[in-house]
Parts: sequence; structure tokens; C-alpha cells
Amino acid sequence: MATTKINFYERYAVEHMEIDMDDKGLFCKVCSERHENVSYTVRVDESQLVPVATSCNCASIKPCKHMHMVTEFYARIYRSNVEKAQAKAAQVEVVETPVEQVPPIAMELTAELRGRGKKLVATDLSTKGSLNGAQQTAGLLMALPSRKAKAS
Ligand SMILES: [Zn+2]
Repeated sequence: MATTKINFYERYAVEHMEIDMDDKGLFCKVCSERHENVSYTVRVDESQLVPVATSCNCASIKPCKHMHMVTEFYARIYRSNVEKAQAKAAQVEVVETPVEQVPPIAMELTAELRGRGKKLVATDLSTKGSLNGAQQTAGLLMALPSRKAKAS
């Protein structure tokens, strides 16, 4: 769907596009690529957040390039509006955040508890260190019988 390729005609046609309204609503007049002084009427549905092309009076299979051009044109000019709407939504979230940050007091308490926990872990490590020493001694003892076995 993302047609990033814009050829010279499309750029020219969009730049010279006539936007107008009649009793049926919004429409764009897009000049023809092949025929000079010929333009096609692309009907636009602007009831949605971003207007979209709904029809074109050219002979091509729909949706035609004129409809794509008009839809992309509106998607481009309305992008800032959509971004502004998203930015406003983000600002609302920022305002709401301080309310969510009330629990920090509880978080600090848990941090202190974690600090105590670390001390306990440190004691555990020293215990484990002695255990490892015992295991190493056991390993040496286990190695001795094997030597004896080889000797005998
Ligand atoms: Zn068309």
C-alpha cells in the first residue's frame, strides 16, 4: 500500500490539483497524464479522520492512480493533524502520570528492604564459600582413594 515512488507526472498533478466542493461534497480535479487540458474528477469522502478518494471519472480500473494520488495527498497533509492529535493524547498521559507516581513511597521502602536483602545474600555467599571449601576438601579426599586404587 505504501507507494513511496512518485514520478514527475504525479508530483505535477498533485501540485496543480484543484480542490473544490459541490452539492455532492469534496472533490479534486486531477489533470490527465496523457491528454493535455483534460482533468478527472476524484470524489473525496471527508467524513473520516483523514479524507480518502472514493471514485474517479477516468476510464482506468479502480482504484486508479488519480485516486491513489488524492488519498496520498490527504494522508500527507493530514499527517500533522494526526500527529498533533497523538501529541495531545500523549500530553494527557503525562498529566496523568504524577497520579500514578504516588506509590513511589512504597517503592522506596521496598528499595530499603532490598538493601537489607543484599546484606543477607552477602552472608549467604560467605556460607556458600565455606561450603565450597568443604566440597573441595571432599573432592581431594575422593581423589585419594582412586590413587590408592591405582597403586594397588
Ligand atoms: Zn482516475
